[in-house]
Amino acid sequence: MDLTQIMHTEYGKSVGECTKDELYRALVKYTCTLAEEKRKPYCGKKKLYYLSAEFLIGKLLSCNLINLGIYDSVKAELASHGRDLTELEEYENEPSLGNGGLGRLAACFLDSIASLGLPGDGIGLNYHFGLFRQVFRENEQTAEPDRWLTDTGWLRKTDTVYPIRLRNGTVQARMYDLAVIGYENCVNTLHLFDLEGVDEDIVGEGISFDKTDIAHNLTLFLYPDDSDENGRILRICQQYFMVSAAAQLILAEAEARGCRLYDLPDYAVIQINDTHPAMVIPELIRLLTERGLDTDDAIAAACGACAYTNHTILAEALEKWPIRYLKKAVPHLVPVMEILDDKVRRKYGGEETAIIDREDVVHMAHMAVHCSVSTNGVASLHTEILKKEALAPLYRLCPEKFNNKTNGITFRRWLLHCNPALTDFLTGHIGDGFRTDGEELRKLMAYRDDTTTLDGLMRIKSDSKKALADWLYRKQGVKCDPDSVFDIQIKRLHEYKRQQMNALYVIHKYLEIREGRLPERPVTVIFGAKAAPAYVIAQDIIHLILCLQTLTGDPAVRPYLQTVMVENYNVSAAEKLIPACDISEQISLASKEASGTGNMKFMLNGAVTLGTEDGANVEIHRLVGDENIYIFGDTSTVVTARYKAGSYSAKAYYEEVPMIRRAVDFIIGPELAKIGNPVRLRRLYDELTGKDWFMTFPDFADYVKTREKAYRDYGIRPEWAKKGLVNIAMSGYFSSDRTILEYNRDIWHLDRSPEQIHSK
Ligand SMILES: *Cc1c(COP(=O)(O)O)cnc(C)c1O
Repeated sequence: MDLTQIMHTEYGKSVGECTKDELYRALVKYTCTLAEEKRKPYCGKKKLYYLSAEFLIGKLLSCNLINLGIYDSVKAELASHGRDLTELEEYENEPSLGNGGLGRLAACFLDSIASLGLPGDGIGLNYHFGLFRQVFRENEQTAEPDRWLTDTGWLRKTDTVYPIRLRNGTVQARMYDLAVIGYENCVNTLHLFDLEGVDEDIVGEGISFDKTDIAHNLTLFLYPDDSDENGRILRICQQYFMVSAAAQLILAEAEARGCRLYDLPDYAVIQINDTHPAMVIPELIRLLTERGLDTDDAIAAACGACAYTNHTILAEALEKWPIRYLKKAVPHLVPVMEILDDKVRRKYGGEETAIIDREDVVHMAHMAVHCSVSTNGVASLHTEILKKEALAPLYRLCPEKFNNKTNGITFRRWLLHCNPALTDFLTGHIGDGFRTDGEELRKLMAYRDDTTTLDGLMRIKSDSKKALADWLYRKQGVKCDPDSVFDIQIKRLHEYKRQQMNALYVIHKYLEIREGRLPERPVTVIFGAKAAPAYVIAQDIIHLILCLQTLTGDPAVRPYLQTVMVENYNVSAAEKLIPACDISEQISLASKEASGTGNMKFMLNGAVTLGTEDGANVEIHRLVGDENIYIFGDTSTVVTARYKAGSYSAKAYYEEVPMIRRAVDFIIGPELAKIGNPVRLRRLYDELTGKDWFMTFPDFADYVKTREKAYRDYGIRPEWAKKGLVNIAMSGYFSSDRTILEYNRDIWHLDRSPEQIHSK
């Protein structure tokens, strides 16, 4: 690259004279040009479409430069002009197109699909404000619109516009394209549809807006509040807008490649990421009949092209839409769903596997299982629970459709980009094969007893902790001690993830310190989490954590125990936090976390997991062995049985276990009353003592004991570093490249042309 030339042509200035904005724009433009040059027209037959309501892609500049193989040279060239790539990285906005793990998974998958040279595009929505921006005020979360879209960006406006039929009239969906640049390989596309005529000015106070003004609000926010009917109808309209545009694009492309419509499954495979895009099935059927196929052929063609990924067994998260709402949003889709339900009922009978239940409610997951060729869970325990519990009746009807695809993460972002020091260190030891073949990391096992290697790893960790401490100070003005243990829990706030249990531990420890029982070594407990604005108890938990942050700031406590709540947790924050972690908190109630992918990112960066036997923790445990992970708590079998028996009484634990009572009583005690909101604290106390639906009390004693053990072991130095090494070495399985190869082998069956294959 000749930066001098580029800046001269673009702005008539030298590199040194350019503003950040000018440099950033020029680099984005340059990157996009290179991507377009690499893009090859797809001449094969079958193509994958990954449909998702979320793509939590993170900042793009550095990862794209890495994948184009020019990161180091661009950085060096900037440096030669006295400019720093990190200032541009910080200048970049993070696209706010996702919420949590599901959206991040979609982003990792797009990276792997392109990096493996597979023909596959993503399709989603171009939310103008995406997920809200979290701001803390008076120890509470407030939500603000995150206007991430700027004209400096990566999005290319296309001429493709599709009409979308809604109950109250037709709106237009325009396609915007974003290049998905594979690691030293091909370039695919993420298509994001946007409502023509969307109006950002209708947003009022905070993130409120008129939910009924569909013609102006459809693509403003991701997951608008659906606690009322208008919100639910808006969600249905949003989902339909996405899948109708997707279906029209898929059919147009398939026909352009020579597909006769009843051959659709030979030309397109549509992966449905959770049920949000599941309406693509009836929409495709509707469009195919409109184009002349008879009903049975249309159903066969549509269902033969679709595959479904389940992401949760939480009942409240399994989408169900009342026919009444569907009729108010997309009445033309209702007859198709009724035909599908009728077919299923005729074939199998039975109420529990029906698509539309007796209350006239559509079970989106049931429709997705019946009307597709594959249903997969996202970690082996999760898939077993789907088969045995959550979707058991459906599994009995069609066991051949069910399969497991344990999630993964892209090593390009979660190692090469976020931890260059570790990347170089690994390359020095085992070569650079791990960048495209995660299993190569196992070669590191040869160094597990090598003290120089272990020292090197400890130095890298320690540098990352210093960098995190600096970042936290710059960002939030909090000072923390990089020599303390960094114990981190960062993920969406949900009761099943049990941030409240971690907070109870902090209280327990605080009380001990107050009594003069000082811990052996200082600990910094770091949280990061957004809570859905309508999820009251989650807000209360955030409030408690923020109060604890204040409380542990007390000069008498802080040298031993500090609490930090990172504001507005997102991908960019994760990239700073993960390399700096010593202990990774993965403490969901066993059976409730489908997979988790945060756990994998931490493992890859040499943190040791403190967790339950849940989601992919089970597989991490199996890979690293008992010595290199801290497992505690009841198993999913015990938990499931306890739910079934209905025998759990939080009250009994509260009354019988003094440690629990003390910590829980503290929530409504005088110290917190001085700094907290009594309504929130009382509600949380009542929730815990009266219900504790996610069973923190039965696991609490074991949690405390196991956590203390981990802190003790942390002090036994080379052994601790060895645990980190083993975690890194065994994390290759969690490369999303492995996951994607399995999807392709078992579900998609796409051709990889020989020149595109550069790893196994
Ligand atoms: C990886 C990731 C998640 C998922 O974290 P879990 O611990 O698996 O829930 C959520 N948010 C962001 C920003 C992430 O990068």
